[in-house]
Amino acid sequence: MSVTKNEEGLAGREDRSVYETDEPVRYASADGIATITLNRPQYNNAQNSQMTYALDAAFRRAVDDDAVKVIVLRGEGKHFCAGHDIGTPGRDVNKPFERVNLWWDHTNKPGGEFMYAREQEVYLNMCRRWRDLPKPTVAMVQGACIAGGLMLAWVCDLIVASDDAFFQDPVVRMGIPGVEYFAHPYELNPRIAKEFLFTGDRMSAERAWQMGMVNRVVARDELESATYALAAKVAAQPRMALALAKQAVNHVEELQGKRNAMEAAFAWHQFAHSHSELISGDRVGGFDARSMAAANRRQEG
Ligand code: ZN
Repeated sequence: MSVTKNEEGLAGREDRSVYETDEPVRYASADGIATITLNRPQYNNAQNSQMTYALDAAFRRAVDDDAVKVIVLRGEGKHFCAGHDIGTPGRDVNKPFERVNLWWDHTNKPGGEFMYAREQEVYLNMCRRWRDLPKPTVAMVQGACIAGGLMLAWVCDLIVASDDAFFQDPVVRMGIPGVEYFAHPYELNPRIAKEFLFTGDRMSAERAWQMGMVNRVVARDELESATYALAAKVAAQPRMALALAKQAVNHVEELQGKRNAMEAAFAWHQFAHSHSELISGDRVGGFDARSMAAANRRQEG
């Protein structure tokens, strides 16, 4: 995936997206467990706005259905999620949507206002809504869980990963201090979070488990059965007690300053987008697809 310099500069911000599917998220429900599936496997489930709004609607549907006790979030195909859509034909950053938070529409806005309004809506505040929804959520992660993909795994209460899963936030290479939902120092201890960000290296599922970032690591062919066994166990508990237990733990994170910490990190993130645009004309100015791919190959090798 690549971004052409100035492709989304101040000029020419019309929407040129071409969707490959009208079902970027699938929804199913059985035995008290709702399954929400990211469904853009041909693009490794890269998140465009079409997908984030569909995700929001799916989470709402699961919350509204009294028969649903637990929600499983998974990705179709080889990878859980490769991050935000930065280069597929369905990239739709310039498209307006009916918003779920009360910020104004981002399209046709000048300077930093475009990113500030859009990313509050589709990234920061949607993720916070999903993290705080009152039913337990379980992420089922295989393959890549990169940048914006991390945000989706992190908003879930529990994470089950296959042994081939890896986690990565390589956006420092793009001149950005970390993804919009800046939970790194809560998901990892601060020193490991710094290493994770500074190097942009992949963290294996095994290492993520050692760090307490994921609950279970299982063989790839056992991922589904292990995830649904865990979800079924949780689903057997009383609904209200689950909601209260979730709120109680989330509240501890709030007392530790998570929300305020994220507000500051989001402001720095926006400064980085504006800084990049000032020095390179591109909001992800340090981004070079070839050097990023080469860095990934070095690590694989
Ligand atoms: Zn951003």
